[in-house]
Amino acid sequence: MILHHATPQAAGRWCHEQRAAGRSIGFVPTMGALHAGHLSLLRRAKMENDLCCASLFVNPLQFNDAEDYANYPRDTQKDLRMFAAAACDMVFSGALGDFFPGAGVVTDIPVKNAGPFGRGLEEQFRPGHLDGVRTIVEKLFAAVGRCRAYFGEKDFQQSLVVADIAQQSDGISVVVCPTVREEDGLACSSRNVLLSPNERKKAAAIYRALLRAKTMWHENVRDAAHLRRAMGEVLAAAGVAVEYADLRDPLAWSGQPPAGEMRRAQALVAARVGRVRLVDNLRLDG
Ligand code: AMP
Repeated sequence: MILHHATPQAAGRWCHEQRAAGRSIGFVPTMGALHAGHLSLLRRAKMENDLCCASLFVNPLQFNDAEDYANYPRDTQKDLRMFAAAACDMVFSGALGDFFPGAGVVTDIPVKNAGPFGRGLEEQFRPGHLDGVRTIVEKLFAAVGRCRAYFGEKDFQQSLVVADIAQQSDGISVVVCPTVREEDGLACSSRNVLLSPNERKKAAAIYRALLRAKTMWHENVRDAAHLRRAMGEVLAAAGVAVEYADLRDPLAWSGQPPAGEMRRAQALVAARVGRVRLVDNLRLDG
């Protein structure tokens, strides 16, 4: 039943027909270069819905760095085989003009504001990224229509932004799925293949820093500055260039870093290992 590389318009018609026949749709947006994290979302979407549909689109609007966009791993044929092996029922993609009719180049496209959950952290270190995510995700949701959409907690701030979009859409709910990790704890990411063997070893420090904060939390450390410093130390010792190692109340997002004692905490890290930017996060309480 797979529609390889349907356009968003054809995908929309397919979804509409399936819903009219009484079938529910689980939707997994991706930028391809599939890994175990993506596969976990596809599995969950398939389990909780009659059909699983995915998008494969490397969204230029969410890259604030041309080199990062150019180097982003792409292997469409391999991805399509993996989608099929995951029993995905439909995959769609498209050129920029399919998502934004009339747009020939990125600069033609009016970019949306990410909204309240876009403030701070990624906004500061990757300006425009979450605005670009919001702009394309609104288009993807509009194409697919009523569905459950599956996103990874690995991109924590993004998951808040897309949940906010869903709240304002008709019939779309967002399901946030746990982060899948490699054996040493490094979160699976399409960018991991860009790491040299030495960088790959260093990158494991990101998860160690998050675990250090979690251990401290369980030892009753609640002070934001103290937790922040401890994560920074683990990353610095490994020679990882930190963009942020910070905390937020996961249920009350704020653009500002917290000060003093916390009641709930999500630890979030963005770091550069060589030329590769990696993000990860961990809930400390509970
Ligand atoms: P991407 O292709 O990187 O845009 O990711 C597509 C979806 O997969 C997003 O919702 C990501 O949050 C999710 N994802 C990426 N890495 C992981 C992971 N390690 N575990 C779970 N979900 C992930």
